[in-house]
Amino acid sequence: MKIVIVGAVAGGASAAARARRLDEDADIVLIERGEAPSFANCGLPYYVGGVIETRDKLLVTPQQRLIDRYRLDVRTHTEALRIDSQAKTVFLRDLQKGNERSESYDKLILSPGASPLRPPIPGVDLPQVYTLRDLGDADRLSQAASQAEQAVVIGAGFIGLEMTENLVHRGIETTVVELADQVLPPWDAEMVSSVTEHLRSKGVKLELADAAESIVPVENRLLIQLRSGKQLLADLVVLSVGVRPENKLAVEAGLEVGQRGGIKVNDQMQTSDPDIYAVGDVIEVQHFVDGAPVQIPLGGPANRQGRLAADHIFGRSTRFRGTQGTAIVGVFDMTVAMTGLSEKSLRAGGIAFEKIYVHPSHHASYFPGAEQMSIKLLFALQDGKILGAQVVGRHGVDKRIDVFAVAIQAGMTVYDLEEMELAYAPQYGSAKDPVNMAGFVAAGVIKGDQPILHASDLTDGSNRFLLDVRSPKEYSTGHIPGAVNIPVDELRGRLSEIPRDCSVVTYCQVGQRGYLATRVLAQKGYQVANLSGGFTSYLAHA
Ligand code: FAD
Repeated sequence: MKIVIVGAVAGGASAAARARRLDEDADIVLIERGEAPSFANCGLPYYVGGVIETRDKLLVTPQQRLIDRYRLDVRTHTEALRIDSQAKTVFLRDLQKGNERSESYDKLILSPGASPLRPPIPGVDLPQVYTLRDLGDADRLSQAASQAEQAVVIGAGFIGLEMTENLVHRGIETTVVELADQVLPPWDAEMVSSVTEHLRSKGVKLELADAAESIVPVENRLLIQLRSGKQLLADLVVLSVGVRPENKLAVEAGLEVGQRGGIKVNDQMQTSDPDIYAVGDVIEVQHFVDGAPVQIPLGGPANRQGRLAADHIFGRSTRFRGTQGTAIVGVFDMTVAMTGLSEKSLRAGGIAFEKIYVHPSHHASYFPGAEQMSIKLLFALQDGKILGAQVVGRHGVDKRIDVFAVAIQAGMTVYDLEEMELAYAPQYGSAKDPVNMAGFVAAGVIKGDQPILHASDLTDGSNRFLLDVRSPKEYSTGHIPGAVNIPVDELRGRLSEIPRDCSVVTYCQVGQRGYLATRVLAQKGYQVANLSGGFTSYLAHA
């Protein structure tokens, strides 16, 4: 068996190592256009920022180790130019020597990844405008950063924000320009409004709902003209506006691609030619939750897909389950994570859902150092099936998002979240973990124990009595306009102050006292709902 693999990083290197573990005798040729196989793309921003101090650390599995340990035929500085699928041959060019040769295969695995998009604006190809994909990019950016005082990052996705943090870390005054009216566009806007504030608190300037229209050299600097008319000056620009699948080889070979250019594969990672597999950022995947065709360029899926392709080649029974988009990003002292579908993708797909917000402490609130986190849980009202989750906070976010990710993967419901037995000691969690709390609230909503209303519904013009059940001190530091303050502990004695001819919306700081108030009022015959996530969620929506 001879396997040729194009692209030797996340998907390709995983496929190669797995193939060797399954067959000692296979010929495995690993083709890489760049200087090194198996490097840490995800570490590049932190190398530019000086957090990862030495370049060697980025070489996860150095070329010589791939040769010694896995007996792979690794060819770096070699580009795959063309595939002849009839002759089962791939044509290669040695980029250093310039000569070309062909390589036959029994099975070909494509893992060429995705290349950074360059929007068609004047000046985008100037030398001081950088993208970040490989080691060479990181070297150039790092060198430029050492002489820069001001930078502009175009695109506030996860790579854009990681770069922003690292440029600030190097003492560079940084402005982020983002077309959407929020940072981290895959997340729902209200979940990342605290991230916007956090970025500003770190000195980052944000130009949201704006776009770069041109980049012009001015002496040794760049002038970035924005659509709004604003102008920014910078020593360097980082472009991070998304990626495009590197599908040229596949398209020219006649392989089927989807609407957004991702190579179409079956559950075994085979393309429309069964002897050619494709994995990683170059493929179109089915979303795990709704089965829709999507491009989700993430390291975890690429590694798993590489492994699955090798398994299938050697006769193992495999099935890729789809990608659920579990993602996490650090933004200075905050962590932002999501899994499954967001509210905006559920709406776009016309999928019915309900949502709840909770803002628990990341560990027992009585233990020193407890920090608030925010959780948004999206679920089906009919059966409680979990459709998506987003978690934002300073600590403990990674642990909770992974629990939600597993719950989605296992097809669980909000009732399962209520029952989950999670590790607890006061410095790590709570006897009622934030995940359980989200389950309690969501299950309460489905059962009708806890009718809720969302902050976004408050402006629909309905006649409602807004009841703030926090303490007078909390009320005086900020409240929803028009709200009347009756602290929850006084509520039972002051029912006469609450009108019966309209619905009542209760709220507190995070939703817990508001819930108790709804229980009191509902049992006294009021039509009442609790504001999900309380005043904290109201502020996040504002
Ligand atoms: P890649 O890992 O990009 O590998 C493709 C390789 O193929 C490239 O090295 C390329 O040179 C080579 N190649 C392409 N065409 C040819 C050809 N014709 N001939 C020969 N070689 C070719 N994901 C996460 O999940 N978490 C993160 O924190 C994260 N951070 C990231 C940070 C950065 C800066 C970047 C760029 C990506 C990050 N990602 C992250 C995404 C993750 O790195 C990718 O999803 C993953 O690497 C995709 O694997 P792949 O094998 O498809 O492509």
